Amino acid sequence: MGKPHWSNLEKEFLYYASLIREKEQSIELIQMIAAGKIAIDRIKILREYAEEIADRKKRSEFMKILADLNLEFAEIKDKLIKQVEENSSLQKRIIDFKERKENQELKKSASQLILKDGLYYKADNNDGPFCTYCYDNNQKIIRIRTLPPTVQEFGKHECLVCRTVYH
Ligand SMILES: [Zn+2]
Repeated sequence: MGKPHWSNLEKEFLYYASLIREKEQSIELIQMIAAGKIAIDRIKILREYAEEIADRKKRSEFMKILADLNLEFAEIKDKLIKQVEENSSLQKRIIDFKERKENQELKKSASQLILKDGLYYKADNNDGPFCTYCYDNNQKIIRIRTLPPTVQEFGKHECLVCRTVYH
């Protein structure tokens, strides 16, 4: 009766423990995993002993101890799961923060671009020209190439990324 329940606990614990990369985690969490693994080993040994106890009364006492250990282990497991979940939300927050920061930097560089004759140039040092299509659509600052004089009747500049030709 207790057996399938126990093996589920163990599986769940080991699954969550496997999600954790030790290098990135707190000492507390690593200790928790170690404690859980020790508990697993102890419970396994006790289970084997329990099978050998012939005296019914002694056996039921023994099973009570085992049940307590199971409970303790279940608590460790719950704590572990909570920590893992908190951790992934923490990681999500870090990603969101990085994305926001990148966007802010893009906006900052956008304000430093000025439009001149249909092309972008950097406001501070007049560097450029840069492709307006690539920037406006993908927020990418792409330098455009000046076409050789022989083909300039078709266009003066070309973006090598999006192939837009500028006149
Ligand atoms: Zn382009």
